[in-house]
Amino acid sequence: MVNIIRNPVSYCEDLENLMVSIKNSESFSHTSWSIAELQVLRVHIRNHYRIQQQGICAYCRQRVSLQSAANCHVEHIAPKSKYPQFMFEPKNLCVACADCNEIKKEQETLGEEPDPICNGNDRVLYPRAASSFYIVHPHFDDYDEHIEIFNGHYVDKTEKGHFTIGACKLNRRLRAFGWEETLISEPELNCLMTDFLGADDAIVKNEKLQSIKRALVKVS
Ligand SMILES: [Zn+2]
Repeated sequence: MVNIIRNPVSYCEDLENLMVSIKNSESFSHTSWSIAELQVLRVHIRNHYRIQQQGICAYCRQRVSLQSAANCHVEHIAPKSKYPQFMFEPKNLCVACADCNEIKKEQETLGEEPDPICNGNDRVLYPRAASSFYIVHPHFDDYDEHIEIFNGHYVDKTEKGHFTIGACKLNRRLRAFGWEETLISEPELNCLMTDFLGADDAIVKNEKLQSIKRALVKVS
């Protein structure tokens, strides 16, 4: 799994010219992103990051669609509503699943978007340091250093991990559906067996046996 995106998207001359003309137009705003003229650019960016990220969402690490744009959104890490100047900035872009992208977007609409950049939204140059961002930045941060995924549960290891889990509501499936049933691993089963064999009290022994049964039912 890709921990950091190593190759930001690049643009051919035609796309560069297109971006310049859109940015220089009087009506340019963050909503310009959706105009029909930019379809070719959006496809280019989506395809690039879909491959770079090996079909995995930058935030929840679940699969994004390999075919459809519907579950493979182009994500602006610093939101384009606050930072329209970074709309086409390669290092501000990645792909995210529909849920992560929508949840971030929803927060923007409510005006509760946690600001991912510390120093206001009037900067001209895109920040180059991971420390400038509150969020686990897919171009700058090693995901595994910040977030551990355990049986579908997202656990923060750092402040950035904590922020990202909150901003994208990464534990949304756990909240909605509870723990996902997962296959028991060999070491876990060994552990249960050792407990069972080591128990000398009949009641405890029976409890351990029930645990093993439940674990094996999950496997089958
Ligand atoms: Zn996601």
